[in-house]
Amino acid sequence: MAELSAVQFLPVSLSLGERAGVGRNRTAERQLRRLGTAHPITIRTCLLLLALLVLVTAPLPAYDLIIQNGRVIDGTGNPAFFADVAVENGRIAAIGKVTNEALIVIDARGLVVTPGFIDVHTHAEDVLDLPLAENFVRMGVTTLMLGNCGSSALDVKAFLARVESTNVSVNIATLIGHGSVRGKAMGGSFMRPPNANEMEAMKTMVAEAMQNGAFGLSTGLIYLPGTFAKTDEIVELARVCAKYDGIYASHMRSESSEIKEALAELFRVAREAKIRAEISHIKLSGGRVNWRKTDEIIRLIEDARSEGLDVTQDLYLYTASSTSLSQLVPEEAREGEKLPERLRDSSERQRIIDEMKGSLKRNKRDDYGYVMIAEYKRDPGLNGLRIPAAAKRHFGSNSLEDQINLVLTIQTNGGATAVFHGISEDDLQQFLKHPNTMVASDSGVRRWAEGVPHPRGYGNNARLLGRYVRELQLVRLEDAVRRMTSLPATTFRIRDRGLLRPGYWADLVLFDPGKVQEHATFDEPHHYATGFAYVLVNGVTVVKDDVHTRERPGKALRHQPQL
Ligand SMILES: [Zn+2]
Repeated sequence: MAELSAVQFLPVSLSLGERAGVGRNRTAERQLRRLGTAHPITIRTCLLLLALLVLVTAPLPAYDLIIQNGRVIDGTGNPAFFADVAVENGRIAAIGKVTNEALIVIDARGLVVTPGFIDVHTHAEDVLDLPLAENFVRMGVTTLMLGNCGSSALDVKAFLARVESTNVSVNIATLIGHGSVRGKAMGGSFMRPPNANEMEAMKTMVAEAMQNGAFGLSTGLIYLPGTFAKTDEIVELARVCAKYDGIYASHMRSESSEIKEALAELFRVAREAKIRAEISHIKLSGGRVNWRKTDEIIRLIEDARSEGLDVTQDLYLYTASSTSLSQLVPEEAREGEKLPERLRDSSERQRIIDEMKGSLKRNKRDDYGYVMIAEYKRDPGLNGLRIPAAAKRHFGSNSLEDQINLVLTIQTNGGATAVFHGISEDDLQQFLKHPNTMVASDSGVRRWAEGVPHPRGYGNNARLLGRYVRELQLVRLEDAVRRMTSLPATTFRIRDRGLLRPGYWADLVLFDPGKVQEHATFDEPHHYATGFAYVLVNGVTVVKDDVHTRERPGKALRHQPQL
């Protein structure tokens, strides 16, 4: 937009004075107060503006906000360039030499200006309780994809309406979870294929979710009840999703010894359902015995792409995973929530214990020393302890029998979340180097100081910028930004975000690449990232100088079939 003439501007400025506190003007004014760069627009200001009318040639504010003197990294991966960025009505209005005035001017000298980061793999359904999403925005994340690993809100329409009425700090999008759909249609978790009626019900649920704005279908094929689904069932549901141009995002059936079979299954879904497929949190886990197969895995993905399949992947930047401790207990034992019942039968109990020992042995492990309890509500004293130490505290012994007893005790007392150390840094770096790998946290919104959760929720994006860009120089800064912005936006079809372009939403991150830093560790995860001068969501400042402003300008995003 060009400079407005004073005459054109007059009615606008009057209404600005009279209606101060309305709509976007209210937002702009709130920001003005906070920033302390100008006074709230009052009647007096209006009179002043009227007086200025005699000087009809004087330039007048045209934009809500201008960011000057920053180095722009536009999200494409292209080299950074110096330019101003102007924001109007929550969207980017101009990029280049901007001479207009604005209500707010941010001096970004020494900072880079990038699109807001998009985290395509989260479990942030708890954003309704924790609407500030502080751990995310304080590492530059402005858009979250929920509903991963097969678990989502079932009624997408109602869920997104709740997001809107809650007012959250970040933009929220969701997938529809296959596990949630399967559990609802089949009335629980069953070790069998769905019957025809159940299959129809599942297809209807997926179609409705897609019509109501879901961005795709997720599976969690190690979890109940998704783990009991055969590939045919998934293909059939993915076909429904593909009709709406959704993506298929999968926590695959194996990330360890059977990863090649798991990949083959994902490719089959992509091929038969003609759907884009995302490998969620790609990794080689399960212990040393499964490491060093990245060349092979990447070649398989490349072959699939050459065949014409649209396969991409995301990754978190830590050598430990995190999920429910229940993963240590065989699915068949937990099926139908009948674990306590089965454990009461001594021969069944023994079978479960033997199976757990066998699984350790297959992965060439002696015990559960690689597992740390993240949060066990029944006895928080065990949080932060590895299983042998926790067994010692609970039973006075850390024998393998007592470690297994502890896992089963926890599982029958409400369960716990855990951190599993078992990924090679070298493998992680090989996966990160692949140009189609985006970074995603696999985290929920963190409750400050609660439990000892995986640090990825506080540090993932800052870790990419600090450790892998600045320290190890494994990825160029511009490419790192691409993997957090345009790559996830185009892969998941998130419209008008992920690039700095006039007309795109003004989700912006301003940081000093020399200073940006994560601080969360496995032992002490509750530390926010630092180095973020500004994080804006839809043109509103949500983080300023590493402090959350309490603003909640996030939107509920609904998938539209075309970008
Ligand atoms: Zn997962």
